[in-house]
Amino acid sequence: MYRIRFHGRGGQGIKTASRILGTALFIEGFEVQDAPRYGAERRGAPIFAYVRADTIPIQERGVIHRPDLVVVADETLLAITPAQVLEGITAATVVLIYSGHPESWWREQFPHVGRIIVLSPIAEHPGGIPAGAFCAGAAAALLGEVSEEALTQAVEEELAAHDPELVLSNKQAVMTAYAAVANYHGQVQSGPPLTVNETQPPAWIDMSRDAVDIAAPVIHAGTTSCLVKTGLWRTRRPVIDKEKCRRCLQCCAWCPEGGIRVGEDGFPVIDYEHCKGCLVCAAQCPFKAIKVIPESQAKEEQDAQAADRK
Ligand code: SF4
Ligand code: SF4
Repeated sequence: MYRIRFHGRGGQGIKTASRILGTALFIEGFEVQDAPRYGAERRGAPIFAYVRADTIPIQERGVIHRPDLVVVADETLLAITPAQVLEGITAATVVLIYSGHPESWWREQFPHVGRIIVLSPIAEHPGGIPAGAFCAGAAAALLGEVSEEALTQAVEEELAAHDPELVLSNKQAVMTAYAAVANYHGQVQSGPPLTVNETQPPAWIDMSRDAVDIAAPVIHAGTTSCLVKTGLWRTRRPVIDKEKCRRCLQCCAWCPEGGIRVGEDGFPVIDYEHCKGCLVCAAQCPFKAIKVIPESQAKEEQDAQAADRK
């Protein structure tokens, strides 16, 4: 059985990627399961989806704990332990990372991972196409079980409700990624059946009680406990432009995390420990006073400022 786990963030098309791959495998005659797992679905939150495919009826259910292929659409998740991107990998697992870093760089970061393949961001498809589309195409190629025709048909079926131009651009993106990893065609091996131990229900673990400040947190505003650092989810950062800001404070009201307070000068102040990067504030600001920059750029600027202060 092939067991494939996709990891990405809300908004990257991870659910659609798993559906495209699952449908393509189904067209090729496989028995298939595909399902997303969101938790609290929000743009920017870590999510995963999984696909099982076999030539016989699939009896396994639930989350894949021993994947044959792990697809990482957002490389920043690899630094977040709770995202469990590398959970259950074995020496035979292929880890596909959508990243601008070369494979040699990733091998230095994760020397214990047996097989890493990098899908470089594809320049001729700038913006607009979610990472999930590229990952679906590359994953199909790595399995070696999906023809170009089946993959194209799967994209058409899964995106049938969308604008024809969007379907076409996604088809092109999927096929470009499929071709980009052609050298690795069929690298993923179908995994063996689970052992008896692996199919046993988990033993319950008695855990000590949480401290009262976690078990009964004081929710000051919005929907998230102050103790949950949702700032880790962010891939893009909203930044208040004080030149344009009129201090109307609509952004404070709209932020679903209660993550914008009013500063002493009356301007809004974003709490970056809890801002999850949903960008509702930027969309709602009537004066276009909230610019959006990639989180990586924000970190570089912070580092440069820190170096200047020394
Ligand atoms: S909504 Fe825009 S203009 Fe109003 S306070 Fe927020 S940033 Fe400033
Ligand atoms: S500050 Fe803006 S981007 Fe951050 S959580 Fe609030 S609304 Fe979303």
